[in-house]
Amino acid sequence: MIDFQATDSRPALIGMSYDDLLALCAQGGVKSSHADTLRAHIFRYGNQDVQAIPELPQDFYRFLNEHTTRMHPALSASQQAEDGTFKLLLRMNDGKEIETVLIPSKGRLTQCISTQIGCAVGCTFCLTATGGLTRNLSTAEMVGQIFAAQEYTGQKPRNLVLMGMGEPMHNYDAVCRFVRIASDPKGMALAPKRITISTAGHVPGIKRMIEDDLPCNLALSLNASEDATRNRIMPINRRWPIAEVLEWMQRFATAGKKRVLIEYVLLADVNDSDADAHRLNLLLRDLPCTINLLPFNDFPGSAFKRPSAQRVLSFRDILGRASQVVVVRQSRGRDISAACGQLRTEIRQKRMAATAA
Ligand code: SF4
Repeated sequence: MIDFQATDSRPALIGMSYDDLLALCAQGGVKSSHADTLRAHIFRYGNQDVQAIPELPQDFYRFLNEHTTRMHPALSASQQAEDGTFKLLLRMNDGKEIETVLIPSKGRLTQCISTQIGCAVGCTFCLTATGGLTRNLSTAEMVGQIFAAQEYTGQKPRNLVLMGMGEPMHNYDAVCRFVRIASDPKGMALAPKRITISTAGHVPGIKRMIEDDLPCNLALSLNASEDATRNRIMPINRRWPIAEVLEWMQRFATAGKKRVLIEYVLLADVNDSDADAHRLNLLLRDLPCTINLLPFNDFPGSAFKRPSAQRVLSFRDILGRASQVVVVRQSRGRDISAACGQLRTEIRQKRMAATAA
């Protein structure tokens, strides 16, 4: 199936996998080798202008113009932090806006991709959750975030993390196609080990990733060491509790022979005690994983607080003493709207204030 835009029934070229391009060539009555030309120009050179793609039959140009469209997210706003982190607010073809974050490190760029506009999962510490879900993003809208970032920074991202707005497993088919496009060695050619899908713990999605042998890594946003706390801050836990999710993380690691990533947002006096760290050690003792500790980025109106630096180090040391591979992620871009969804919320509030004035 070819990916369709929300406001235009014609598919966008940047949302098409190689198989889709082959199908397009068949529909257009041209040789399948033209799919290779399209793939190289669209994904390697970032060229969506059909007329500028050489070596295609004349009739096929007309066919492409009639049957496909462009997806080019427009830049609504941007912020740059002192540490070089960028946050971009991008407007889709239907006027809806999403965020993408770009984190430079040692000359390389990591991009945080959004997979939905809003989110239905309802984690209580998350700003994006407060607005609920508006709609899924198409594959083209995800690929468009990469091209927009490249245009803005002049640099192609080296790492992609699907940890922006949304739960990727709730938009699995579009995400799956996105991963295949991004990792296609003859297209965008990002290394599969540099693409990571992050889930709040959606077990059917993890199962599908294993069945589909999706070429990417998997991260679990765990954020609690016991079900009672996780039920409270991540309602998805009531459906798939910690033991069940970790069992499927283990299966993913075994099937792909790779480490998984465990993300743990540290919330002061909620999940950051020494007892939590000891319980976490027990939970993760047999899972080949790297633990990322993320001190909470508070935002106006949030009911949660960031733990002290001392508490974070104490938590980290307990994990480290149990031989866990643990990293405290520096909060990048703290001097800008660092929480996920914050820039979008602030811009909307400013617009509403300007309208009311
Ligand atoms: Fe959705 Fe992620 Fe926010 Fe949870 S943390 S509500 S999964 S965007």
